[in-house]
Amino acid sequence: MLDDLIARVARLGQEKFAPRAEQYDRDARFPFENYDDLRAEGLLGLCVPKRYGGLGADFATYCRVAAEMGRWCGATALTFNMHACSALWTGPLADDLDLSAEQREELEKLRTVHYQRIIKDGAIYAQPFSEGSAAAAGKAPFGTLAKKAEGGWLVNGKKIFASLSGAADYYGILCTEDRPERSMRDTLYLAIPKDAPGLTVTGDWDPLGMRGTVSRTLILKDIFVPDDAQLLPRGVYFKAASAWPHMFMTLSPTYMGIAQAAYDFTVQYLRGETPGQPPIRRRMYPTKQIAVAEMYIKLSQTRALFERTIDAAKVNPSKRERLDAYATQYTIMENANDLCRLAIRTCGGQSMLKSLPLERLYRDSRCGSLMLPWTAELCLDRLGRETLYEAGETDE
Ligand SMILES: Cc1cc2nc3c(=O)[nH]c(=O)nc-3n(C[C@H](O)[C@H](O)[C@H](O)COP(=O)(O)OP(=O)(O)OC[C@H]3O[C@@H](n4cnc5c(N)ncnc54)[C@H](O)[C@@H]3O)c2cc1C
Repeated sequence: MLDDLIARVARLGQEKFAPRAEQYDRDARFPFENYDDLRAEGLLGLCVPKRYGGLGADFATYCRVAAEMGRWCGATALTFNMHACSALWTGPLADDLDLSAEQREELEKLRTVHYQRIIKDGAIYAQPFSEGSAAAAGKAPFGTLAKKAEGGWLVNGKKIFASLSGAADYYGILCTEDRPERSMRDTLYLAIPKDAPGLTVTGDWDPLGMRGTVSRTLILKDIFVPDDAQLLPRGVYFKAASAWPHMFMTLSPTYMGIAQAAYDFTVQYLRGETPGQPPIRRRMYPTKQIAVAEMYIKLSQTRALFERTIDAAKVNPSKRERLDAYATQYTIMENANDLCRLAIRTCGGQSMLKSLPLERLYRDSRCGSLMLPWTAELCLDRLGRETLYEAGETDE
């Protein structure tokens, strides 16, 4: 199954996504046409379990398919992550958790609604959790609040950097149940439809990279959603975040793909085989050969960590597996940008013209380290602390 999925995405990527990527980037426009193609191929249901009509990809399969997508269009792969996670978290990851019989029954009802929207209606989901506070870093309750109302929830708040803003059919909002004592344990994951009264998309979008993600601000003002807007039963998101930490490294496959694309570009360019370019070879210079060898080594090291970590991902990982996840996320995000840097330095001035993809790869790759909750900095923070302290240890 994996080979077939990768081949399908590679074909779409090469024939459709790569030729369109430049224009999405220039216009900072959402890749609607790519999503039409993904829908037509049944790939919107990639992580929807098979018994609900999806393709049933597990965590590692998702990561490998997403890395292939990232090779051809970073913005499509990054936004596809937000959509795919809505199925991955509610499907295979939730199935792994220690839930009560009532929670399982509720989960079954909730996700049936959710998956039907994806499979039958071709709906796409966004995943806005950032708020410009410690919440998206996983260190405080979300400031967006959901108050229990008759038959549903009343939602108020603000989300920044909402990729797929204005393009998603549903926004998978992470928010806190509005009670006198607010706790991260009371995180709710609610699907808010794009046309819900009280939902506004604001602000402009003119960033350095990942321009096609169109990650604008969402204002949520007295939005009412019914009880079945919950994507997970109460308390289950918190359990998943604690027991399935690899759920936060699903953004890294996009950047694994970008790293591969930077290397591919370099080889093609130095061989004088870049489409649309004069067939000038530059491969005979020893410095370029050494640079490509260094790129190959860095890419192989990155890929090896990626493969090992996604295969090790599971519920209740060991300490070592958790630390490896931080180290892998850090390595992919930083190395993707470094490989793009090396690619530009090695290929030379003409390679960074906007008519070629390398310049876009370079800008897109810079965004990887900024993605909460596992930014490069926060991975270092966690590694530093968790290597030196066991759970509950202090210096008091
Ligand atoms: C292209 C792009 C697409 C995005 N799409 C989405 C999306 O779809 N959904 C979504 O929810 N978010 C999305 N984000 C947002 C992203 O995950 C971060 O929330 C955002 O980049 C944070 O920016 P900030 O300036 O508010 O960072 P700040 O919160 O100011 O943080 C700056 C840095 O400080 C560190 N830091 C932050 N909080 C803490 C803390 N409590 N303790 C220690 N260190 C901390 C982190 O390393 C962080 O990188 C996207 C970002 C980009 C660039």
